[in-house]
Amino acid sequence: MIVTSMNPSEYNFQRCKLCGKIAAEPVYDLSDYIIYSCQNCDFHFLNRLDARAEKGINTPHLNSASRNYIESRIDESAHLHPQRLEFVQRYINLSNRKALDVGAGLGQFQLLLQADGAEALGIEPSAIRREYALEKFGINLHSKLVDNDYWQLNFPRNFDLITLWDVIEHVDFPRETLQSAIKLLKPGGFLFLDTPSRDVLSYKLSQQLYRLSSGKMSLFLPNFYSSAPFGHKQIFTLTQLSGLFQDLGLEIIYKAKSYSNNPERGNKIILAGKKR
Ligand SMILES: [Zn+2]
Repeated sequence: MIVTSMNPSEYNFQRCKLCGKIAAEPVYDLSDYIIYSCQNCDFHFLNRLDARAEKGINTPHLNSASRNYIESRIDESAHLHPQRLEFVQRYINLSNRKALDVGAGLGQFQLLLQADGAEALGIEPSAIRREYALEKFGINLHSKLVDNDYWQLNFPRNFDLITLWDVIEHVDFPRETLQSAIKLLKPGGFLFLDTPSRDVLSYKLSQQLYRLSSGKMSLFLPNFYSSAPFGHKQIFTLTQLSGLFQDLGLEIIYKAKSYSNNPERGNKIILAGKKR
């Protein structure tokens, strides 16, 4: 897609990143960024993109400060990985299966896949995290993104499963990222993801308060987004993300809001799709 190599300043944010229509308008001005809302499909996204040109240039390397930072946060999502593995195992026996973890972080999920017999690869754009994964776990994560020719030309219809844990809210163009990932799946292969949900009371209350206060109060809206590089650029509703799965040729085989015993209550979107 031409759009993914675009300079961010060239993107017209009136073009909805989900439905593609020129129907998005700035609705929530949070001073250091603006949330656009599509009048056609109600998708919400920031007027921010990660400059592709910046990626890989002046990349910081692992040093004692970044190592300490990573280690201070290493446990934050550690409890989720076993839950994610259990979720995946419900649908697929991992023994000798080919797996790709997109947005692999430090590679912990890849380790779990490998321990269960899968032949797993991982993609991680952050050089610091890749270096840490190599140093700590001996894992070589790939730097090239899933839409890169490296994957698209060498691995079409190759993987039995692809996972994107807390990834789709960070990417510049979620539709194109998912489409690129699905091209790498075998027919009948599985795509699993999780991401924060917009269908939560704190988001709805924040929208109401913003309107009632004529933009003076945004309450929790800034908790959902970030203008930092690789920050949260879009937050989906379950209906929007389910619709996108179906548009892109995935049959939805599971949806939930949490990994807990009560999957109907939670603040996440958890989806499993099967490629037709
Ligand atoms: Zn739209």
